[in-house]
Amino acid sequence: MDRRGNCIDCDLGYRQTYAGVAFPEPRDYDCAIATTKDISPRVHRLGTSLVNWYLVEEEGELTAVDAGLPGFKKTLAADMAMLGSELGDIKAVILTHSDSDHTGVADELHDAGARVLIHSADEPKLRKPGPKSGDAKPINLVPEMWRPSFWRQFGSMLLSGAGRPTRINDAQTFGDGEVLDVPGRPRVIATPGHTPGHCAFYFEQHGALFVGDAMCTLNVITARTGPQPFPRPMNESNADALRSLDAIESVDAEITLFGHGEPWRDGVGAAVAQARSLAQG
Ligand SMILES: [Zn+2]
Repeated sequence: MDRRGNCIDCDLGYRQTYAGVAFPEPRDYDCAIATTKDISPRVHRLGTSLVNWYLVEEEGELTAVDAGLPGFKKTLAADMAMLGSELGDIKAVILTHSDSDHTGVADELHDAGARVLIHSADEPKLRKPGPKSGDAKPINLVPEMWRPSFWRQFGSMLLSGAGRPTRINDAQTFGDGEVLDVPGRPRVIATPGHTPGHCAFYFEQHGALFVGDAMCTLNVITARTGPQPFPRPMNESNADALRSLDAIESVDAEITLFGHGEPWRDGVGAAVAQARSLAQG
């Protein structure tokens, strides 16, 4: 932080609000620096300890699954260079949903030539971002605001531009069950609840299931780790989000990858079972 409270790393100011509540002292937050880790030979994880996005490789071409936070643009070229790739190698960005921590660098990838694809029910929010509704209306987060972990994690995300969502005006849309004509040819599995058009993507040839925020292994409010449902005040319909676990539990993937948290290698069914038991508790 500099003396005005602006983050030196991402140049974004800290003066952000959520649900009408201004964040307190900027010294409480660190700005997340994007990092890159290989998680399998053809699947790469990018982002931070808090927010993931991924690249899937197929014959030298790449599909991005989600696009992180807007602040990740600062390290995008360096991240790509670490992988021995460049922006133009990314042929498509497929978005699990329209939230600002998943769409961040999509405009820059689009400008470099990538197609951007999203479920038809989330496309309007990508064109015109706005507050979430239903069970996720911003006021429902207020009871969680006593938690230091909430401020630490949301502060970090806001410093990386979560409050300034990326807009895409000409995204292509898809529906449930489609096999997308992008590198890796993933199958779309609709998992509505977190948002109405939320989807998971199954790359069968890679043994990888990307579930976005259908569930998580890091709670962005409490910082709890391990497979669990996404926090209730952030799902537009909690009932739908829980029902949507049915759609992914029998997928035979070697690795399950989340928008938030570490990868899971012990089977999707076991992860869903843990999430369900916590939802009932
Ligand atoms: Zn998210």
